[in-house]
Amino acid sequence: MTPSDPATDRFATRAVHAGQSPDPTTGAIMPPVYQTSTYVQPELGGHLGYEYARVQNPTREALEGNVAALEGGAHGIAFASGLSAIEAVIKTLDAGDHVVSEENTYGGTNRMFNHVLSRLGIDFTFVDTRDSDQVQDAMRPETRLVHLETPTNPMMRLCDLEEIAEIAHEGDALLMVDNTFATPYNQRPLAFGADIVVHSTTKYLNGHSDVIGGMIVVDDDALAEEIHFVRKSTGAVPGPMDAWLVLRGTKTLHLRMEAHNRNGMEIARFLEAHPAPVSVFYPGLESHPQHDLARRQMSGFTGMVSLELGDGARAKRMVERTRLFALAESLGGVESLIGVPALMTHASVPEDRRAFMGVTDGLVRLSVGIEDLDDLKADLDGALKGL
Ligand SMILES: *Cc1c(COP(=O)(O)O)cnc(C)c1O
Repeated sequence: MTPSDPATDRFATRAVHAGQSPDPTTGAIMPPVYQTSTYVQPELGGHLGYEYARVQNPTREALEGNVAALEGGAHGIAFASGLSAIEAVIKTLDAGDHVVSEENTYGGTNRMFNHVLSRLGIDFTFVDTRDSDQVQDAMRPETRLVHLETPTNPMMRLCDLEEIAEIAHEGDALLMVDNTFATPYNQRPLAFGADIVVHSTTKYLNGHSDVIGGMIVVDDDALAEEIHFVRKSTGAVPGPMDAWLVLRGTKTLHLRMEAHNRNGMEIARFLEAHPAPVSVFYPGLESHPQHDLARRQMSGFTGMVSLELGDGARAKRMVERTRLFALAESLGGVESLIGVPALMTHASVPEDRRAFMGVTDGLVRLSVGIEDLDDLKADLDGALKGL
């Protein structure tokens, strides 16, 4: 048996095999959970490639090889969480450097940029990246990085990756894309010119709501070395059991995403035809203002759907009346979740900025799981009755 070849194997084959080969000692088909902090060296100055588990761990390396192959990059670098992965990229910068960021990012990213990393002398400008000109106008001589999310959370806004990659590179900056929502099954930012892809593996990549984790994928060797240096020097590594669980998850990514894409699309159509919601946000709907870009950039539209109900009281009634959709933060697991971003995931974003982005008290976000579609529709229909 020879290892998977990311250059020739197709997505589903890479999902199952990339990054792994049978354990050389026993032939175990799954990489063992190397639950060890250190490695015995046969002689002084001659180790086997493994010295200390903050720096090297074989289980983690298997996961890194797997996700790198799915994103089409040469290097995967795993982290303890999605936020620590994003933080590590910012820590390759110097005080005085400038970052241009999408304004409608994950709430925690916004909080980290504004309240933690800005204190270290990194300057952030937030713009609406649906409009590439706004990115262009925000670029300065000291801009080193552009940070994007597409689709965004929870408004499902898109940005043009190819266009913004060009703007970033003209300004001598790198483009980082948070691909947590889309997943590599639906969108591969490196192919559009991005330099860094980041994931909260907590979400779709793990897919089973039982791990917090992060991942960076880059193609450039020197950039990978820089990020490895930051990780080894600051220490936000995932434990081997968590790495193993995410690896178990990515083996079925293609199957799960097919189901999420299908259920997401059908639920979005169902809600759009339903009289209760004021509007529905889903890039796969023809009514989405950036539907053409979505079709160019993505091959599927995931299970993330948002709907506006008009006021907070209606939103509260809906989310408290579902049976299958569980009222909870997070997304991307096999089970369906429901929430009110303004009071949950985006509570840390100041009220005026939330209003500006359209994150109202009446906005409900769904993470549509892989349950039976008719059961999910009946659940939502029941919760919307009489609103
Ligand atoms: C959840 C999430 C994060 C943060 O990831 P953690 O694993 O919770 O640290 C970052 N970006 C997006 C888009 C997310 O959904």
